[in-house]
Amino acid sequence: MSARYVIILTKSDKLLCYLTNLVSDTLSPLRLNVGFIVAQTAGYSRDFPLDIPQIHLPPDLSLVHLTGTCRLTRTPQGLLLQVGARAETDAECVRCLTAFFQPLSTEFTELYAFSKRHVTDSGLLVPDDFHIDLGPLMREFMLLAVPISPLCSPDCKGLCPVCGENRNLVTCQHDTAPGDERLSVLKDLLDKPST
Ligand SMILES: [Zn+2]
Ligand SMILES: [Zn+2]
Repeated sequence: MSARYVIILTKSDKLLCYLTNLVSDTLSPLRLNVGFIVAQTAGYSRDFPLDIPQIHLPPDLSLVHLTGTCRLTRTPQGLLLQVGARAETDAECVRCLTAFFQPLSTEFTELYAFSKRHVTDSGLLVPDDFHIDLGPLMREFMLLAVPISPLCSPDCKGLCPVCGENRNLVTCQHDTAPGDERLSVLKDLLDKPST
């Protein structure tokens, strides 16, 4: 395990030593060092492009092809984060039970405040070490983008209720929609002579 002391400047310009595990930095591509933005005047902004082949966001979300942009803007109150991102995640179709990659996209804006006085409802503060980990936020907003009933395609034919075959792949003998029986009863009633 490689770890070493890194000396950084805090907002109050005091020198502090932090034991920083550099290994965890390289494993966390959503961890941004924002110290140089804090040092700029209000209005300065910087884009961080996202292009991550795959990432696990603990405890429960794995993403592939995470792309997009994180913009951080220095304001008098803190750092304004604006994210637009797309990714895909493992999902299972509710109709045919096939595993597929569900496309997700999200846009969100949050403020990392310099002090508790300016903190917003999300309670985000610029950390003393100036490293912002976007992982938890990305997880939260990407989870909101996951559909409640994922479909492999909008016109997925689902499984046959009789033989269980995947109707997207095979045409079985039971090619009747579940509603047909009820409709035929209705049809019989309508066809009956009224006298
Ligand atoms: Zn399906
Ligand atoms: Zn069937």
